[in-house]
Amino acid sequence: RRDIAHWLDARLPEPTARPHRSRLLVLAGPTAVGKGTVAAHIREAHPEIHLSVSATTRAPRPGEVDGVHYFFVDDAEFDRMIGAGELLEYATVHNSHRYGTPRGPIFDAIAAGKTVLLEIDLQGARQVRRAEPSASLVFLLPPSWDELVDRLVGRGTENEEERARRLRTAKVELAAQNEFDHRVINDDVARAAEEIVSLATTA
Ligand code: 5GP
Repeated sequence: RRDIAHWLDARLPEPTARPHRSRLLVLAGPTAVGKGTVAAHIREAHPEIHLSVSATTRAPRPGEVDGVHYFFVDDAEFDRMIGAGELLEYATVHNSHRYGTPRGPIFDAIAAGKTVLLEIDLQGARQVRRAEPSASLVFLLPPSWDELVDRLVGRGTENEEERARRLRTAKVELAAQNEFDHRVINDDVARAAEEIVSLATTA
């Protein structure tokens, strides 16, 4: 297994990171890195942190509860939310469904002194950066390139073309880490979750 130093592409620019603390944390990272699992751990272990509930046009999966995991809405309602300026950011993810972060609950929680965590995709993280420059952007990294490849193509159900496409996407996504303030390695879910929580200011 290759060491992390070997796959952090040396040709990438130095991080423009501005490490700082903020009560608005944005967690993003490449596909299959485990953002959802880390966010779920924070939901359990840190009830004091407000986890943003996104709106989505995709259908609920078994066990998902409306208003807890997502607000499940139809296209018309999603369009209405955009038009009314209710979304801090929104994006079409994996070329299929739309996802967006309702603005109101976030700023209510911040006003109440809470730390807020958004688990969103890269396009969304970039929009939050523009809309709220004081947000802390956290990039979740796999422990190694090989590990990410395993997670992406591990089941071996894809053909060669699909595997190649996923790996190209992963490289592009990994390059985005340089836009982030903090990088956290998902070597252990509980450890990564604690490191992310520690990045929030308590002031
Ligand atoms: P899933 O459908 O598996 O729950 O989520 C798919 C992807 O959508 C994940 O990468 C997740 O980070 C992203 N996502 C979830 N909510 C939002 C959101 O509000 N905004 C954006 N931009 N992406 C989101």
